[in-house]
Amino acid sequence: MIIRDIATLKQTIRGWKQAGETIGFVPTMGALHEGHLSLVTQARAQAQRVIVSIFVNPTQFNNPTDLATYPRTEAQDIALLGHVDAIFIPAAETMYPAGFSSTVRVSAMAGILEGAHRPGHFDGMATVVTKLFSLTEADSAFFGEKDWQQLQIVRRFVQDLNLPIDIMACPTLRESDGLALSSRNRRLSPEGRKSAPALHAILQQTATAIRQGHPIAEALDKGRAALVAAGFGPIDYLACCEAESLTPVTTVFTTKHDNVGLRLLVAAALESVRLIDNIVI
Ligand code: AMP
Repeated sequence: MIIRDIATLKQTIRGWKQAGETIGFVPTMGALHEGHLSLVTQARAQAQRVIVSIFVNPTQFNNPTDLATYPRTEAQDIALLGHVDAIFIPAAETMYPAGFSSTVRVSAMAGILEGAHRPGHFDGMATVVTKLFSLTEADSAFFGEKDWQQLQIVRRFVQDLNLPIDIMACPTLRESDGLALSSRNRRLSPEGRKSAPALHAILQQTATAIRQGHPIAEALDKGRAALVAAGFGPIDYLACCEAESLTPVTTVFTTKHDNVGLRLLVAAALESVRLIDNIVI
């Protein structure tokens, strides 16, 4: 069932709730690929009803060109989602009617890493996701580890605002050559597509160096140089952070980091296509 308006969404959900059914929710911006579908599969396994939203949220784009060129493949997305209970595809005016003026902001993480390079991005994301949680009344929502910082921010505001929803993390789906699936990959030329797996390979090399005890700042510098050599640029960041708080760690890996968990995160452009990835250290 395709739903575009809030009244129909609410009515549908009321029916499910009255029947005592659990609801799993997968928010997306469309241009769906196997990575999105893996979230849907996990939602299906854990909830009786599954809602997927497709909404290219304008407020989380700081760059108008990025918003304009973001791939939109609605008919194909709907076909791929054949088996879900509801697909919510609101118009921008449905989500942001005249007079809209509220924002959800996770101050501690909004301005670092992705947030430093995409001002306002996470405020837009957190606000729309809060609205979608409220609209879908979902018991659980499924997010990809591919967007690691997003996942931590969602976990944070759900805890801070006492939202009654469980956040489930799903592993990053990759091509056989290591490239993380992304809607943006389709904007790469065949040549760019060949270079793109270097992003993941360099993350792995850097993580290994850090784990082996190399000074972190040096390992990161080497990783950045390797990215440039592989044709990436600009490199927005290559950073080693505590996994949950995203506090940067710049000295040497020690066993105490095993307790907090460390994550290596990267954002770099290839042929003007901005790619992000992250792995555990
Ligand atoms: P997006 O449509 O890019 O906003 O992504 C919607 C959801 O799919 C987010 O929770 C992403 O983290 C997740 N996702 C995107 N790519 C992947 C992937 N390669 N593997 C797993 N999840 C993904």
